[in-house]
Amino acid sequence: MTDKDITTKEHAENGYVPDYDVPTLYERNDVYDDDITDFISKRITDVLTVLGEDPAREGLVKTPERVAKAHQFLCQGYAMDPRAILESALFDEDYNEMILVKDIEMYSLCEHHMLPFFGKAHVAYIPKGKIVGLSKIPRVVDVFARRLQVQERLTLQIRDAIQDVLNPQGVAVIIEAQHLCMMMRGAEKQNSFTTTSAMSGEFMNQATRAEFMRLVRPNH
Ligand SMILES: [Zn+2]
Repeated sequence: MTDKDITTKEHAENGYVPDYDVPTLYERNDVYDDDITDFISKRITDVLTVLGEDPAREGLVKTPERVAKAHQFLCQGYAMDPRAILESALFDEDYNEMILVKDIEMYSLCEHHMLPFFGKAHVAYIPKGKIVGLSKIPRVVDVFARRLQVQERLTLQIRDAIQDVLNPQGVAVIIEAQHLCMMMRGAEKQNSFTTTSAMSGEFMNQATRAEFMRLVRPNH
């Protein structure tokens, strides 16, 4: 969901037809509940007022509804089951080497300020008879990221879900992220990254862990 979606729909309402197929915000109806949108919108209108804004001015007329939908989108992970996603694409396979999905884009909201933290996740596992469709790994990252989080718990939840469903020889997760609540409020230097990691099984072994780190950061 981006401003581009909204702009495209508004263009469409004004008779402008884009020459490519853009999904509109409103095709994702399953994400938005009208009652919840209404409930949040009314309160955002109040928030705008007490912050000194005029919620009736042109630029803000649709803001409460947009904020309500943005928060439902960014918190849709509560309604999703990461284990079911993994179970939907499990395959028997005798592959015994490390499988690494790296540089997975990750966007989440910190639970203390509801401000974004974002960066990259690197997820590896060593199978024990079962592998999972590779696209499911980023989806599991998304499901946990689209909840209110702390980076430490997000890292552990990704590891544990994969460990529980695949029962592999081991799982390793690293997340490198920047936190807007620190950057915008001046508590940290602008370019600081927070790195968290969670390992299990074979990745507790120093050599395996070193191999994982070397694959994630080839230039170090
Ligand atoms: Zn925060």
